[in-house]
Amino acid sequence: MKSTKSIVSFAPHEVRRFISPLTIASTALMAGIVADALTAPPAPNFLLAFFGGLGIAYIALAHYLLVRSAFQSATYKLLNALLTGIGIGVFSFLLPANRTEIIQPLIVFGVVIVATTTDRWSAYITFLLIGFISLSTSRLQVHTLEGALEMFTPYLISLIVLEVITRLKQTTQQHIHRLETINNISHQIMQTLDKGKTLSLLNTALQDTLHADTYFLGFVENDQLNLELFYDDGEYFNGTRVPLAGTLSGWVIKNQKELFLPDLREDVTMEGVNLQIIGKKKTSLSWIGVPLSAENVTGILVLASYTANAFDHADLELLTSLGQHVTLALDNALRHAQVEEQVRLDSLTGVYNHGYFLKLLGEQTEQAAQSHTPLSLIMLDIDYFKQYNDTYGHLVGDRILTSLCNAIRHNIKQTDAVGRWGGEEFAISLPGANGRQAYQIAMRIVETMRTVRVEDRDHQTIPIPTVSQGIAVYPDEADEIYRLIDVADQRLYVAKERGRNQIEPGADFWVE
Ligand code: GH3
Ligand code: MG
Ligand code: MG
Repeated sequence: MKSTKSIVSFAPHEVRRFISPLTIASTALMAGIVADALTAPPAPNFLLAFFGGLGIAYIALAHYLLVRSAFQSATYKLLNALLTGIGIGVFSFLLPANRTEIIQPLIVFGVVIVATTTDRWSAYITFLLIGFISLSTSRLQVHTLEGALEMFTPYLISLIVLEVITRLKQTTQQHIHRLETINNISHQIMQTLDKGKTLSLLNTALQDTLHADTYFLGFVENDQLNLELFYDDGEYFNGTRVPLAGTLSGWVIKNQKELFLPDLREDVTMEGVNLQIIGKKKTSLSWIGVPLSAENVTGILVLASYTANAFDHADLELLTSLGQHVTLALDNALRHAQVEEQVRLDSLTGVYNHGYFLKLLGEQTEQAAQSHTPLSLIMLDIDYFKQYNDTYGHLVGDRILTSLCNAIRHNIKQTDAVGRWGGEEFAISLPGANGRQAYQIAMRIVETMRTVRVEDRDHQTIPIPTVSQGIAVYPDEADEIYRLIDVADQRLYVAKERGRNQIEPGADFWVE
């Protein structure tokens, strides 16, 4: 069932607006009582007039002061309930026998004012006090059914109005609370570029505002729905994958339309939909789904309940708004990740650029130092590439560069890295590899390059340039990255000097 976790209080000017008709009416009534008391034959009733004056003063005070938030404490609420209850009780006692009908609007006004300005329980205290005092001091004799009806009608009206007002207030407060929560969370969602945080904020928003038995957020992946957030009956089943075909979710995603089904027992006649149970083996009876769609995101956000008619259109609105925020945030996060990745990469070959490779090499050597494992660095340069370009053209040269990078990537592990050091020179870091293992990899790169086929403009197969490589090992040969690069570079130079198409290994290669 719906409930609010924190009660939003209305601003004083809002409360004043609610109660001004009552303030006017009750002030007029009190003024009438005072005038009536002062002109009452045979002699003015000064006591009643005095109480009437007090009543007017109290109403004015309540109108301007009691509605202030400072007066919304439990103590003031109780004091107000007691004063109003006792005050009206005393009135009913002081009123002359020929004016007892005035007590009826007084009871209603009193209870309604307290219910509007404070809360349900204060209004009940007022109601009980008025009832107790006025009934125990009543001079009305109840002999007939009509008499009893006449006597109790104002109490009954007060009770009904009290409950109606309280419920209206609660509903309004719930809506305000939900809007506040959604605003707050949407704001936070738009500020993060982290997928996990976005999903956790969405979860908080759904838990705080909707109280659904089930909800999920899913993204389309290969005709399946990957439920990255999936809550069902108090448990999370994040990461579940479900088929899309024939499901309500599939319908929503295919038609890119929201779907609001208040009661699934009524025939669901949507083309191609067969209802299925996911999560716990319980059947949902209410279902709302909104499509999520952006450049990089296709998915759905769903609310469901085991009871029928659990949701209203306000819930649909809220879900739609949350869905839009989450979609935008996730799309932004993906875009941001793509841009970040692009910034790290060399645009021609797709390997890391010089700057990012250096950063990564720094991190990898740090880890190697911590785990006391070696890290090998290969520096690789294409032989006579200028000449090659001059002979076959730069476009062919570019194709060679791309093929070389593919050959390197083909021979290294996920945890290894390759960067374009500049022009036709590449650096390959191999965490965990000693000089011998690095040499094997260098050999395999050479072998793979031999299998590459490139054609010239006339579709004639042309030769592939050779490469020279120099290897250095961290930390044995250099315990700092610039020194490591320098050693590998010197070895590359040695390989070139030895006539090119050579690998100059690390010092440990020569040790038995
Ligand atoms: P060495 O064997 O001594 O390395 O001779 P080399 O010709 O390869 O060396 P050099 O440094 O003199 O020339 C490098 C050439 O690499 C110059 C340039 O034409 C070519 N090059 C650099 N970057 C690119 C590129 O992005 N695309 C193409 N097609 N060629 C490039
Ligand atoms: Mg070269
Ligand atoms: Mg070069």
